[in-house]
Amino acid sequence: MNRRDALRLMSAGAILPAVPGGALAGLPRSLVQPVGAGAPRADPYAFVLGTAQDAGFPQVGCYTDLCELGRELHARGEGRYVSSLAVIDPDADAYFLVDATPDITRQIDLIDEPGFRVRAAERRPFDGIFLTHAHIGHYTGLAVLGNEGIGVSDTPVYCTAAMADFLASNEPWAFMVRQGRIVPTPLATDVWHRVGDRLEVQLWPVPHRDEFADTVGFVFRGPSRTLLFLPDIDDWRAWERDLATTVTALDVALLDASFWSLDELPGRTIDDLPHPLIGQTMDRLQDVVDRGETEVVLTHLNNSNPALDPDGPERAEIDRRGFVVAREGMRFGL
Ligand SMILES: [Zn+2]
Ligand SMILES: [Zn+2]
Repeated sequence: MNRRDALRLMSAGAILPAVPGGALAGLPRSLVQPVGAGAPRADPYAFVLGTAQDAGFPQVGCYTDLCELGRELHARGEGRYVSSLAVIDPDADAYFLVDATPDITRQIDLIDEPGFRVRAAERRPFDGIFLTHAHIGHYTGLAVLGNEGIGVSDTPVYCTAAMADFLASNEPWAFMVRQGRIVPTPLATDVWHRVGDRLEVQLWPVPHRDEFADTVGFVFRGPSRTLLFLPDIDDWRAWERDLATTVTALDVALLDASFWSLDELPGRTIDDLPHPLIGQTMDRLQDVVDRGETEVVLTHLNNSNPALDPDGPERAEIDRRGFVVAREGMRFGL
C-alpha cells in the first residue's frame, strides 16, 4: 500500500493499524498515531468531520463531473461534508464541535467514540460548540439541535462578541437562546481560554466578508500539540499575521483551500477573488512544509475545485509538494 492508498483508506474512514510503519511510514506523524491505544492517558484529538465549502459537495443543482463524483462518494459511504471538526478528549468524555454545518446530521455519525452516543442519547452531545463566523456553512447546523431535532440544553456556543450578538438577536437562533438550548459565550480574541481539563483555545481574527458578524480562526492546544482551524479568509496579505511565521509556530494548520485557480470563477480577477488560491498558499508555506515540522492541511474546498479529484494532476502536485488535502475521518493528536 502506498502513501496515496493509505490516505484514500483514511478518506474512506478505515481504521488505521495500531502500529505506525510500513506503507504508512511516509504519512504525517499525527495521522498514524493510534488514539487511545495503550497510553495511560490518551491525548485529546481533532477529528475532521467535513472538508467542503459552505454549500457542500455536490452542490445543489450542480451536475459537473466533479459534483457527480461528489454524489458517487456519498453513494459509497465516503461522502465529503461541509468543513468542520470535532475536538475530543476521550479520557474526559468531552466533545466539542467546531462549526455547525448543514451536514451536521450525517457528519457527527463519523465520531466513533462510544461515549459520544451516550451523550447524544442524553441530548447533550457537546460540551461546547465553536463557531468561526455567520456564513451558512458554519453555523446553520445549529437549527437541528433545537426543538425539532435533538433538543440540546445549556450548550455553550463559543464565538466572538459580534457573533454572540448575531445569534441572540436573530431568529431562529434567538429562540434557541431564549429556550436555554444554546448559550452564546463570547471569548476575547488573541488570548488563551481553558475549555477543558487539557484543552485551551485562542480566537484569531481573520479578514473575511463579514456581512452579519466577524470571522475568526481557532487555535486548539492540548498537552502535546497545537492546531489551527482557519476555513475562510479573503486574502493572506490582508491578515494581521504573517502566514509563514504563524504556521511555523504550530504543529498542524487546516487552512482555507476553497479554490485552485481563477478558471473556477469565470469573469473574476485575482483582485476580487474572495479566497487565496491553493498555489498561492503552497508558495507561501513551501519552506515551512519542507522543514517537516508543521503539517499543512487544505480544507473548505469549493465544488469547482479540481483538487477534490483524488486522481487529478492538481492533487498529484499537492502531494508532491508535501501538502495534504483534508479528508473526513483524519485525526490529529493535540
Ligand atoms: Zn465558508
Ligand atoms: Zn465565509
